[in-house]
Amino acid sequence: MKINKEWHEKNKMPKNAKIEERVKWHLAHQKNCHCRPIPEKLLIEIKRKNIKH
Ligand SMILES: [Zn+2]
Repeated sequence: MKINKEWHEKNKMPKNAKIEERVKWHLAHQKNCHCRPIPEKLLIEIKRKNIKH
């Protein structure tokens, strides 16, 4: 698992992030870093809302 520290420094997850913000964060994260996968709950949310990757 490789961590893109620079990306994490520039893209901190906001505190009390809404589900939409978390989805956006994770989609951006996935493209830039692979330290952790998208949580299953968020994947369900992405599918339900049909958010484009
Ligand atoms: Zn990461």
